[in-house]
Amino acid sequence: MDAANSQVYPWQQTVWDTLTGRFPQVGHGLLFYGKKGCGKHAFAQQFLAWILCLNKTPAGACGECSSCQWLKSDTHPNCVYITTDEDNKKQNAKIKIEKIRDLLPFVQQTVDGWRVIVIEPAEALNIASANALLKTLEEPGDRVVIILLADHFLKLPATIRSRLQRFAMDRISPNQSELYLQEHLPENLHSKIPLLMNLSSYMPLQAIALSELDWLNRRAEFVKDWLRLVQQRSMPLQFATKWNKELNFSDLLQMFEYLLSDIICVKLNQVVKNSDLDFTVLAEQYSLQKLFAIYEDLQQSKLKVDQNVQTNLIVDQLSIQLMNVT
Ligand SMILES: [Zn+2]
Repeated sequence: MDAANSQVYPWQQTVWDTLTGRFPQVGHGLLFYGKKGCGKHAFAQQFLAWILCLNKTPAGACGECSSCQWLKSDTHPNCVYITTDEDNKKQNAKIKIEKIRDLLPFVQQTVDGWRVIVIEPAEALNIASANALLKTLEEPGDRVVIILLADHFLKLPATIRSRLQRFAMDRISPNQSELYLQEHLPENLHSKIPLLMNLSSYMPLQAIALSELDWLNRRAEFVKDWLRLVQQRSMPLQFATKWNKELNFSDLLQMFEYLLSDIICVKLNQVVKNSDLDFTVLAEQYSLQKLFAIYEDLQQSKLKVDQNVQTNLIVDQLSIQLMNVT
């Protein structure tokens, strides 16, 4: 966990009031879920600090007691953070069962005060580790709170879901999102707020993260190059070489996924997210089936972001695939 990143955002205030108002009459298994960029991690950090704080007030933890000091130095004996392996940050990495089993002594010991366990991302629990966690959830020790964080509620095993008291963190109105971005983005980016809200599905922290990425300003050029590629049916490697140089692999894939999703939306007569771009001509070049096939390959490529593969070869293949429209 990251004690510095500890906050209750305006759109989370109701959940905060509910939880702190009812505490300790809350479930011992809590799920905070919501789309990337809704601030659930910061909320969990604030809430666990409040649970553990020795001088808490309704507004939050005191920031000064021994518990708060421990959290700041990331050495709190009553707080455990479980995530995927450090050396295994692949997108599909799992939380191993050993990590959940190792929790038992911590959960069962008799100590003064509350104990908090945070598991993030909860989607990374595999079947074995989810089952092990179920046992812990069935017989928790006294004053133990287990907090799970997830982007997607439905990606969790149903057995786990039913044991948790859950709170959606991404119920953010367009107004709340816009207000937050106006306050937190530099003036020169304000004209991009509608676009950023679209791309982030109104998640303010994700919108801010996107505003800092190079590809935001390169989309139009990429679409132009892409169109030239399919219309001239030549030089896919030139296209690949250029974009391999212009953006790093992960940014390139992220941008491409947004654009490809929009082209699929055009085919399906749905609203596009890159509202400042025109995809009509590009969409005419591909069948829906072909677009879904490319989308599938893209998902496979994303798994390779953190592996030691030659990413330029992947971009080469992608370019050839994009050129072959039939
Ligand atoms: Zn405190």
